[in-house]
Amino acid sequence: MPKQTIQDVDVRGLRVLVRVDFNVPMEDGRISDDNRIRAALPTINYLRERDARVILCSHLGRPNGKVDEGSRLEPIAEGLEAVLDAPVNYVTECVGIEVEAAVAAMEPGEVLLLENLRFHPGEEKNDPEFAQQLARLADLYVNDAFGTAHRAHASTAGVADYLPAVSGFLMEREITMLGSVLEDPKRPLAAVMGGAKVSDKIAVLETLLDSVDVLVIGGGMAATFIKAMGHGVGDSLLEEERVDFARETIERCGKQGVKLVLPPDLVVADAFSADAATQVVAAESIPDGWRIMDVGPSAVWDFTEALRPCGTVLWNGPMGVFEWEAFSHGTRAVGQAVASLENAVTIVGGGSTAEAVGELGLAEDMTHISTGGGASLEFFEGKVLPGVAALRDKEA
Ligand code: ADP
Ligand code: MG
Repeated sequence: MPKQTIQDVDVRGLRVLVRVDFNVPMEDGRISDDNRIRAALPTINYLRERDARVILCSHLGRPNGKVDEGSRLEPIAEGLEAVLDAPVNYVTECVGIEVEAAVAAMEPGEVLLLENLRFHPGEEKNDPEFAQQLARLADLYVNDAFGTAHRAHASTAGVADYLPAVSGFLMEREITMLGSVLEDPKRPLAAVMGGAKVSDKIAVLETLLDSVDVLVIGGGMAATFIKAMGHGVGDSLLEEERVDFARETIERCGKQGVKLVLPPDLVVADAFSADAATQVVAAESIPDGWRIMDVGPSAVWDFTEALRPCGTVLWNGPMGVFEWEAFSHGTRAVGQAVASLENAVTIVGGGSTAEAVGELGLAEDMTHISTGGGASLEFFEGKVLPGVAALRDKEA
């Protein structure tokens, strides 16, 4: 069921509590990547243009219900001010009398950033009392934090019991774009799965197997599939207890007519290190003492060919240990292959995959890069995300 957005309600002049995801990477107290802040701008600006009073709330890091000086949102307020090009007021609390006073003093169009929600234990516990304290600040609740939508916290779900709740633009786009993979995708539909472990992706693989036409497997998880094919994998990261699952997946693909593409060759190394000795070997002849670190050139070729006719591609998980140059080629090549599909809807999910796409300069060429790592995985597992469920349904 589609969810109401800020465009479905009259926001003019209202006090609007906006849950954003400002959990940005920090280095030495400074923001090292402000993409998540920029991603919230369309919603903030829309509200400001309509004279709403914009009250922003977010978590940062894991303060675990206590005040942690290193996790204050003051640097975020400064970072937001820089990209918003308007003053941002900041309060060192997120609920209580002082915050209520700060809200009461707001002029139309003004922006106030509240302190880290997770300084209060009630946030992650979804304590109704805390949710009510948040709700008291506003007339309308907007959730624009897809990255935490898989958590039932006070600011992502509980507060919606006490205020009308709608989605912001970022949340709306995530739901629509990720939803387009599961509901009536442009076919053929391909899933490119990688990353370190099969176990992280089992639930996703199981759901997607019902709908994909093409399944490409790379990354460390390829080892478990190669083992399931009856080959040795040397010292590769093997999940022995997942070999049966991999075997069943291979069988299901055969039965359901899903084109399964496993890497025919791999880059292996003699140690898990950036400067290990490397060689390219066939999947059925990984030497003892060597481990899979990336997919090989024939694999890149096969993957590229398999993706070429696709109408929709979902990519989750790097093809190799892309953080190290020697093992980044597979991820780069597959990223370029996905990015170059001009008529396809291309969706990137997963924190590391999004990071890789950004580093490769391919972000502009993808249809959508999800801002929610864990949330996008749970979405593709077919789970109901509490932060989405809490929003008002569109009228039928
Ligand atoms: P995402 O965050 O995009 O969902 P994952 O968290 O599943 O992706 O996996 C990302 C990690 O997988 C990266 O840190 C990468 O180094 C690692 N990885 C990829 N291929 C291998 C491999 N062959 N061996 C070990 N680790 C790998
Ligand atoms: Mg990850």
